Amino acid sequence: MSLSYTERARQLALPSKLFIHGKTVDAANGKTFECINPGTGETLAHIAEGDAEDINRAVASARQAFESGAWSNLPPKVRKKVLIRLADLMMEHREELALLETLDVGKPISDSLSVDVPSSASCMRWYGEACDKVYDEVAPTGPNAFGTITREAIGVVAAVVPWNFPLLMACWKLGPALAAGNSVVLKPAEQSPLTALRLAELASEAGLPDGVLNVVSGFGPTAGRALGLHKDVDCLAFTGSGEVGKLFLQYSGQSNMKRVWLECGGKTPNIVFDDCKDLKKAAESAAIGIFYNQGEVCTAASRLIVQDTIKDEFLDELLKVAATLQPGDPLDPETRMGALIEEKHMNRVLDYIDVGKAEGAKLLCGGERVLLNQGGYYIAPTVFDGVKSSMRIAKEEIFGPVLSTLTFKDADEAVAIANDTDYGLAACLWTNDLNKAITLSRRIRAGNMWVNCWDGGDMTMPFGGYKQSGNGRDKSLHALDKYTELKATWIELS
Ligand code: NAD
Repeated sequence: MSLSYTERARQLALPSKLFIHGKTVDAANGKTFECINPGTGETLAHIAEGDAEDINRAVASARQAFESGAWSNLPPKVRKKVLIRLADLMMEHREELALLETLDVGKPISDSLSVDVPSSASCMRWYGEACDKVYDEVAPTGPNAFGTITREAIGVVAAVVPWNFPLLMACWKLGPALAAGNSVVLKPAEQSPLTALRLAELASEAGLPDGVLNVVSGFGPTAGRALGLHKDVDCLAFTGSGEVGKLFLQYSGQSNMKRVWLECGGKTPNIVFDDCKDLKKAAESAAIGIFYNQGEVCTAASRLIVQDTIKDEFLDELLKVAATLQPGDPLDPETRMGALIEEKHMNRVLDYIDVGKAEGAKLLCGGERVLLNQGGYYIAPTVFDGVKSSMRIAKEEIFGPVLSTLTFKDADEAVAIANDTDYGLAACLWTNDLNKAITLSRRIRAGNMWVNCWDGGDMTMPFGGYKQSGNGRDKSLHALDKYTELKATWIELS
């Protein structure tokens, strides 16, 4: 008889040490921190707590690896082989990585198995494939000169990532950074170090030279800050909150003007017109769009902006779907919604629910902590109606399973509400009118526009935000822009 995921999880060896210069090592000061399972509230492991001294060691290792050319000067087709081998290894270790991710962050095991790990591996494979497919340029200079515009690796890249998709966000940075020939120091969020530490071991097994990928687990204000201020880091790629994103811009100005690329939060508007062809599909997508990954998604469709004529019918459908998405044990393969990342975050989301009630929004379902007997941090899918654009629950990123419903009368009002936010990461639009779809998509200020779907796209499409959702793009060949410098070489011909 095959073992359940809970039994298999018990047998897992959990990574717990930093990965520097091809070796697992303790933190220089010997300190560790507790890694908590959000599904049960229990301690999973004690993880090495890296700080400034470990960051110095990791950056020195990355610099030495970069200058040695052991990776940066390899023929692109050889780098390609290593990254594709890493993608293969990730898929060979799919169940192990999925279990680590679910234990660490509380997301359903079915999602870790079917989304997080395969998407991360295909990201690595895609950039592996790209290594020897990208050409440089020859400028149209005329007969007396020869001008080339070439991309060069930028050097030492630091990546600081959040806890909601720990492996995937790491791979969105590592894929293009490594493909371009850089060396990297990765700092996972303190809530979710496990898959990053294991990934470094797999990368080494795949043939990545020592020092090309270092992983330092630790806290933001110590290890993260040290990376931001480090004078030998050439570029820092961050995914996380706007608050910390702004700190990285400051750290850069206080140190060496390292390039800073930010993927920060969002407050995705999901606009549904009454001419939407399949309201049932739109309602199901609206529910998945806010409740998937417990709502801990930067592109969560957290503002439902629905035409007043269909609002009641639409919400009826949506509530039916919400009822099927109740939280459960993350290790149960039937569970579709798991636990929130930690107690502090759960309380923050519950506070927002109180704010919504106090602001006068109408609570239609959820609104409370559930499954207390499991010891973890679960909140029922929550839907508010009667929300106004000026309310805090319409403006601020809640990062939990809380939907705010607003209504509009015409297209101009829908666009005005959609754009009434500091964020600009993504937006959805549901209509059967092609003209409306295209003209309104142009008026909405967001880096990702999804028409008649939520979260559409694949590795070929860039991902990133306008306004305070950040700068630069992950995914696609555009991500290579972040991790390369352009060199213009003008050769005078006689
Ligand atoms: P966070 O900003 O608190 O933490 C992100 C990372 O920054 C962590 O590794 C953390 O240790 C580090 N950090 C924290 N304080 C720091 C400091 N003072 N100096 C340096 N580093 C520091 O974000 P979070 O709570 O982990 O994640 C949730 C946020 O991430 C949400 O706002 C969400 O929208 C955003 N997010 C954005 C995207 C995107 O692609 N745009 C994707 C996922 C998550």
